[in-house]
Amino acid sequence: MNNKQTDLSLSQQNTLLNFDKENVWHPYTSMSDPLPSYLVDSAFGVNINLASGETLIDGMSSWWSVLHGYNHPKLNQALEQQASKMSHVMFGGLTHQSAISLCEKLITLTPQGLDKVFLSDSGSVSVEVAMKMALQYQHAKAHKQKQPLTKTKLMTVRNGYHGDTFAAMSVCDPVTGMHQIFEQVLMKHYFAPAPQSKFNESWSSEDVTELKALFANHHEELAAFIIEPIVQGTGGMRFYHPEYLKACRNLCNKYDVLLIVDEIATGFGRTGKLFACEWADISPDIMCLGKTLTGGYITLAATLCTAHIAETISKGEAGCFMHGPTFMGNALACAVANASIDLLLENDWQKQVKGIEKHLSTMLLPLVQHERVKDTRVLGSIGAVECKQSVNVAQIQKRFVELGVWIRPFGQLIYIIPPLIIEPEQITTLVSAIATVLDEDDCFNP
Ligand code: PMP
Repeated sequence: MNNKQTDLSLSQQNTLLNFDKENVWHPYTSMSDPLPSYLVDSAFGVNINLASGETLIDGMSSWWSVLHGYNHPKLNQALEQQASKMSHVMFGGLTHQSAISLCEKLITLTPQGLDKVFLSDSGSVSVEVAMKMALQYQHAKAHKQKQPLTKTKLMTVRNGYHGDTFAAMSVCDPVTGMHQIFEQVLMKHYFAPAPQSKFNESWSSEDVTELKALFANHHEELAAFIIEPIVQGTGGMRFYHPEYLKACRNLCNKYDVLLIVDEIATGFGRTGKLFACEWADISPDIMCLGKTLTGGYITLAATLCTAHIAETISKGEAGCFMHGPTFMGNALACAVANASIDLLLENDWQKQVKGIEKHLSTMLLPLVQHERVKDTRVLGSIGAVECKQSVNVAQIQKRFVELGVWIRPFGQLIYIIPPLIIEPEQITTLVSAIATVLDEDDCFNP
């Protein structure tokens, strides 16, 4: 892999970093006292090359997005070929092969019944689209049946996370969802307790007692139920039992509520199934995809729904779905998404994920013995170490960089989700770095 040296002098690097610190917002950090940012020069395979000269093994896949590694020749080629024809054309009244092929692939690969695709810009927007679809569907249905519209709310579970835009925020966990301060301005929806039965443990039907009661009491108000399938990511890397998801499907069927499944983090093999709903053998009515859809190259998301939903909306009062982003169906993003999906299928992704899972299980699960650790868990290519204390992000990050890895913990969680092409020795380096920092008091808040 090409680890080229940076062309930037030390003083150029400092100038850039100073400007960045003074003027550039970074996610979830203070503008007046920001967490440090490291200047990246390039990235190849699973390596991120800092301008300061260090090479870091990437344990984060750039927040679950980089599937086949950085700077992949086939993905680069797809992008270059598309750029040489056109980078973008408006999707109103125009269409193109890259978008059409992508939608065809998504319809084929996703669970049965998801036959209509709405492309958008980011995960959060795809959730906005899903929620709007559900609400517009219920509006059209009530209008057709000349019934008053009562189904105007959503239900979800605690510990969920669905994005940072306002509708998405309204279905994030009010506490762990990081959006508490907006509580007074957010739409009010219903929250069921978070699933308790763990993925690999026995199923307890008591887990859905309150969920059932909430459905029974509020179904007349419910347009849709939204949930992250099997893995609650930002809400704590919680891997829950597939029976819970099955119960959600059954309750939605029973009470005529649409099921929205947010596969933005879990999609494309990450949990060991192509889509996490496959663990429960269910098909949702609406599915959101994003993050690794383009192999981590460009932002793109998709909301898929059934023909019935699309038809009901289209025959409703408005006659069309009320959404149309400027960069809908962006050709560069669609071209690279097609190449990423082809690569996933060519690469025997099941073997890749199984290999990561096996290695993580051997190395990372035993960290549970450490006195600072509350729990360790592995599912597919995801490994999490839940600590008893919260991490000191600036210090732990600094130590990870010194140890040659890129791992970005949050709260009490140190987790990794590496690109699928990672080699066993590189996983060993990532987990060894976690083991090292667990011994260091200053990496944790008292
Ligand atoms: N849903 C889930 C499950 C996510 O993990 C995320 C991103 N962390 C989102 C939605 C929002 O996606 P984006 O950041 O692309 O808006």
